[in-house]
Amino acid sequence: MKEILPTPPAIVRQEQKSIQELFQKNVVPSYGRFDLVLDRGEGSWLIDVNGRRYLDLGGGIAVCSLGHANPEITSALVEQSTRLVHCSNLYYHAPQGRLAAELVRRIGPGKVFFCNSGAEANEGLYKAARRFGNPEGRYEILTANNSFHGRTLAGIAATGQEKVKRGFEPMVTGFRHVPYNDLQAMRNAISPATVAILIEGVQGEGGITPASAEYLLGLRALCDERKLLLLVDAVQCGHYRTGRFQSFQRTLEGVPGGEAFLPDGISMAKSLGGGFPMGAFWLRTPFADVLGPGTHGTTFGGTPLGCAVALRILEVIQRERLDENARTVGQLLHDQLCGLQARYPGLISSVRGVGLILGFELGREIPAFKGSDKAPSLLMVQRLQEAGLILIPSGTHVLRLLPPLNLTPAEAMEGIQRIETVLAKLA
Ligand SMILES: *Cc1c(COP(=O)(O)O)cnc(C)c1O
Repeated sequence: MKEILPTPPAIVRQEQKSIQELFQKNVVPSYGRFDLVLDRGEGSWLIDVNGRRYLDLGGGIAVCSLGHANPEITSALVEQSTRLVHCSNLYYHAPQGRLAAELVRRIGPGKVFFCNSGAEANEGLYKAARRFGNPEGRYEILTANNSFHGRTLAGIAATGQEKVKRGFEPMVTGFRHVPYNDLQAMRNAISPATVAILIEGVQGEGGITPASAEYLLGLRALCDERKLLLLVDAVQCGHYRTGRFQSFQRTLEGVPGGEAFLPDGISMAKSLGGGFPMGAFWLRTPFADVLGPGTHGTTFGGTPLGCAVALRILEVIQRERLDENARTVGQLLHDQLCGLQARYPGLISSVRGVGLILGFELGREIPAFKGSDKAPSLLMVQRLQEAGLILIPSGTHVLRLLPPLNLTPAEAMEGIQRIETVLAKLA
């Protein structure tokens, strides 16, 4: 769809400017924001205050699993809000119990705790690991270089990237980082204090790098041998994004011993609520019981409203076979991106990921980006935005695609065309 839009009328430009001014005056400047003021969304499309439409292949950073303004999500919100929005975790209610059962059914024997974000889900895993190791004085958690686990104090300590830690020292104690997908490095790093290993199923912020099948199976054996908990951060890569509920289920498909693989804990968030803020962690039996009554909690975790939305999303994914869609449309995007890499080898140096968690890496020598103090990934995202396409930067050189699970093949091709338009101008 080609759109030549006239310059917006002065009154609309004024609206864009005045909204940005409200941010500059009143919002903590912790985010580097793009110059885009959004008004509404429809499916895979976002519309800004000037009425300009953008194909959104970023999905609000892997959150909008059914796209924007999905009518099923609206009806789940409306229906549940007329019954019960919140009642606290002092009581029982059907939506939380049913959602926990649905998550357990998709993972394996264990139990679920509900919270409100990815960082908070990971916090629960750290606490479970500490409780588990406490009788023996073990507390240390090994994580990977280039990992991302959230922005709380423990989250930045767990994250294997210097930039999130800088200026917030001293770090929460008990985290060390080793190279990802390197089993020997992990084995060498284990100390008498080590209690758990935490990895992302696919590194998201670190540039879209999937854990290999050998790494997953090797970590499982290592954890069994050394009595460590194997924890998987599935906040970005989970929830059918790879074509299976959990990325490790996809990675281990057809691999001998793969179907029996289970970690000991999994954190979830992002796509779980499709935009309604929700997080959760699953702990394998019997480790769930280390968090007994009074050991952990949060006021808003697993509200009837949030759980009703998450249940509806799972229902829609199953009914519309969006797991299959993530697989086939993901493969289409992957193949098309590889085609772009072949046509523009100087601009795209690699294509990574699986299903609808994909990334492509920019070449190191793009003349148009020379001399700018901004990261090439940011400059590219800006150019794509001007072409009506939203992607997400990942580090300094990778661009991520994390679209809704119901993205159509036609929308995927539209996205590829818009990327090619920008590449052709850069070439
Ligand atoms: C986004 C993300 C988090 C943090 O989730 P928040 O909801 O922002 O706290 C943690 N881990 C991974 C892998 C993520 O992608």
